[in-house]
Amino acid sequence: MRKKLNAGKRPLRLLIATRNKGKLREIKPLLSSLKVEFVGLSEFPDAPVVEEDGQSHEENAVKKALRFARFSGLLTLAEDSGIEVKALGGRPGILSARYSGENATDKKNNDKLLQELEGMPNDKRRARYVCVIALASPEGIIFTAEGECPGYIATEERGEGGFGYDPLFLHPALGGKTFAQVPLAAKNKHSHRAQAYEAFKAKFKAYMREK
Ligand code: IMP
Repeated sequence: MRKKLNAGKRPLRLLIATRNKGKLREIKPLLSSLKVEFVGLSEFPDAPVVEEDGQSHEENAVKKALRFARFSGLLTLAEDSGIEVKALGGRPGILSARYSGENATDKKNNDKLLQELEGMPNDKRRARYVCVIALASPEGIIFTAEGECPGYIATEERGEGGFGYDPLFLHPALGGKTFAQVPLAAKNKHSHRAQAYEAFKAKFKAYMREK
């Protein structure tokens, strides 16, 4: 059932439109300083699954934010993110979640990436994580914000933390540890998501002032 946009009332309700538990775990502390009431997709069990068929992270983020904003009637944030590997011409990129095919899992995706980079020296293992966030109301897109994080792909999976490609992702500031080997707070200091949410918060505060 549709609800009306909660504009003008306090606190403002903001839908975080993701079903990815790994992302959600990271997003919450990154947005904790915002004075809004966070709403999850779990409050909308009938929400659609949005096909991510855009040609860029931005297109996908915009599509998801708009679709869920129109469905819920709420101000809605959606993000699209992924990893780009230089030696692979930017792959997996927008296909990061489904890199190993229809029944992709994080493990299968990481195995495929390792296989494709087998024998490649460090300078060919350069990569970057990218994150684009879109904010929408049922009336349309309000703004987008993005962040990126440079690093390298390790030669084997290490660590139990994080999600996705984190057991393979080496950030220069973490002394040879992967994102999966460090506490969430350390990942959240450097990650593409951290940069994107910093930019998001600045734009969101300006938007709230102007409203
Ligand atoms: P999407 O944004 O739902 O299209 O999916 C993003 C995909 O990119 C995830 O399923 C992961 O495979 C990958 N990814 C994005 N951000 C991260 C991250 O912070 N760590 C590990 N993998 C990530």
